[in-house]
Amino acid sequence: MTHLLIGFSQPEIKETVANFGTLDATVKELLLSAHAVRQRAYAPYSNFKVGSAFRATPSNIIFTGCNVENAAFTPTACAERTALTKAISEGYQQFLSGAVVAYAPDVFTSPCGVCRQFIREFAGSTDIPIFIARAIADRSLEQPFLDDDPVLCTSIFNLLPNSFHTY
Ligand SMILES: [Zn+2]
Repeated sequence: MTHLLIGFSQPEIKETVANFGTLDATVKELLLSAHAVRQRAYAPYSNFKVGSAFRATPSNIIFTGCNVENAAFTPTACAERTALTKAISEGYQQFLSGAVVAYAPDVFTSPCGVCRQFIREFAGSTDIPIFIARAIADRSLEQPFLDDDPVLCTSIFNLLPNSFHTY
């Protein structure tokens, strides 16, 4: 019966924590884009601001999104889905990598379950690296990350193993 598991997505990337300074320039750019768009978050109810960025192929363009809350709560859009929806509506459906930036005191902010499924939709059969960093309040907007800041380097297949998908 194990053949029934063959279609399940398996992580292609080992989850690690790396220092910001060791990441390659394209990843740094993605995290900086997520940090920048986080400033525009509309979060009057939770005050929990999130920024996200996805790099689309073929042209390496970055799409960004912030969370957009609503008084009725359920219409709220997460940053990850805002970024991806912007990309899809501009004609991009393939993504090389994603980033999420928020601030919680002692933990990385990982995509919610709905966003994991949303990201997974566009992974197809190929894993998408996801980089997660923390936005420290007293940093400048020009240099929000220091070289020794930890970044969680994971992927959508790590975040959502054995996921639902139709092929
Ligand atoms: Zn979400």
